[in-house]
Amino acid sequence: ETSAKVIDGKSVAKHIREEISTEISRMKEAIGVIPGLAVVLVGDRKDSATYVRNKKKACDDVGIKSYEIHLSEDSTEQEVLKYISEFNDDPSIHGILVQLPLPRHMNEENVLNAVSIDKDVDGFHPLNIGRLAMRGREPMFVPCTPKGCIVLLHRYGVTIKGKRAVVIGRSNIVGMPAALLLQREDATVTIVHSRTKNPEEIVRQADIIISAAGQPNMVRGSWIKPGAVIIDVGINPVDVRSKSPRGYHLVGDVCYEEACRVASAITPVPGGVGPMTIAMLLSNTLSSAKRAHNFD
Ligand code: NDP
Repeated sequence: ETSAKVIDGKSVAKHIREEISTEISRMKEAIGVIPGLAVVLVGDRKDSATYVRNKKKACDDVGIKSYEIHLSEDSTEQEVLKYISEFNDDPSIHGILVQLPLPRHMNEENVLNAVSIDKDVDGFHPLNIGRLAMRGREPMFVPCTPKGCIVLLHRYGVTIKGKRAVVIGRSNIVGMPAALLLQREDATVTIVHSRTKNPEEIVRQADIIISAAGQPNMVRGSWIKPGAVIIDVGINPVDVRSKSPRGYHLVGDVCYEEACRVASAITPVPGGVGPMTIAMLLSNTLSSAKRAHNFD
């Protein structure tokens, strides 16, 4: 019985964080600049607070200075815009991140449009997404989760050019930019979403699968072409009150056990794409600081 190679995102991410840390020391010594990241959190969603805490800790570990603004759920869009504008003008800040989702009374488009495109380390500004979609254009930043997926494929020596890739999901933050990136890497890309009629048939044609549907264990072994490479972005809590003290555990979109018997390589959940996302945020922030100070 064959078993897929495990794509160890945790260890790749650790390696990348070490490289970033070294670069930050070198820049600090050479020109006295420390990269700065501003994080705007609105409201009290627990998951958002956890993500922000993890991002801040990761910044500390590599030597990026992080600034956090935490606004209450009932604050206004104007207040958020005012902070973004201050961060845009502050030369010690090289990256601005607005933790999503915003409260429902705020217009996400207005807020994301306000972030200066050369501090848009999440890569969510429409100009950066537009450039990502256009041939011959270069975005200032690429969204972190999809970029992490591509870096994993590169680091594991997976050829993308000329391959058939299927992306499951079309969200602005994962599925859509992942499909654009694969296309830029010369894959032939198909996107599967909740209205797709025959997803298993389409997924079965893929040499490379990137799944970001948010559906636990949706992709079964029978959906996978033998030898395919699977990047599972999904992070889905499943109720296991009896088995785990926390009451839940996390699974991907892909049924891992089944996939291991068919795929040639696969990312685990957790420990696959998750750690890569934060590493790419740090990397984007470092690039931004280097660009701002003409340092390389
Ligand atoms: P969204 O809910 O915004 O998007 C989900 C997408 O999947 C939609 O395009 C939806 O289709 C599609 N979809 C939903 N159900 C199905 C189905 N049964 N078959 C086919 N397509 C389906 O989620 P996100 O993109 O924000 O996140 C996706 C997953 O990735 C989540 O589990 C999330 O937790 C995880 N995630 C992980 C990150 C990481 O760092 N590893 C970072 C961000 C997210 P439609 O457009 O038709 O509604």
